[in-house]
Amino acid sequence: MRKYVIMGVQGSGKGTQSKLLADDLDLVHISVGDIFRWHVKNHTKIGAQVRRLVAAGELVGDDLVEDVVRERLQLHDWNYGFVIDGFPRNRRQTEFFLESYDIDGVIHLDLPDEEVRRRVLARRLCSQCGMDYNLIAHRPEVEGRCDVCGGELVSRADDSPDALARRLRDYHSKIDPVIELFRRKEYVMTVDARADKYTVQQSIRDRFNLPPFDPARGADPAQVQG
Ligand code: AMP
Repeated sequence: MRKYVIMGVQGSGKGTQSKLLADDLDLVHISVGDIFRWHVKNHTKIGAQVRRLVAAGELVGDDLVEDVVRERLQLHDWNYGFVIDGFPRNRRQTEFFLESYDIDGVIHLDLPDEEVRRRVLARRLCSQCGMDYNLIAHRPEVEGRCDVCGGELVSRADDSPDALARRLRDYHSKIDPVIELFRRKEYVMTVDARADKYTVQQSIRDRFNLPPFDPARGADPAQVQG
């Protein structure tokens, strides 16, 4: 049984790395953000409670988050373990988690703010069909135009330098103390997230003594996003 928490700033590749790890080792990837988005999309009672907070990128209350995590883990569909992503996000959630569950470790994807800026500010979105691009990793064939529909490529409103600077400040003020709490329990393995995704995946496995990564068995790269 392998139980991990994965932490890292936006753009550090948490989603990609969780998926590569989970698909190959039969772990369940639990994204708390995805659970809330599912509730919003399906108009559940929880969805109604969190809709505005999720849309504004503000944190949902700790009681509700803890209930959702507890219920998700009570499903016990994780025979071989799990990778949890997006949780815990503050001191109280961390204490709840440490008291309630044993974990094998915390995967901390370390990406300097400067590299986050470079990656996030390169993101583009087709204004017509919504297809995602990235001027570093996934360039359109014709500059500024969508390969699929020819629509104009634009930046997301919340990918402006100001909005990103705010998000980075917010991240450090909330998450650095969480990492520190886990570090005191000697759970944290910090991995340099600047390398390409397969190298990062291999570093995670080296740090946790996991079976080596075989890219041929990895998830389809087109299906996973950072
Ligand atoms: P994410 O995809 O991880 O950025 O999560 C999307 C949204 O879900 C966040 O902006 C919050 O509104 C909510 N959320 C996800 N995880 C948590 C958490 N651990 N604590 C509070 N709110 C959360």
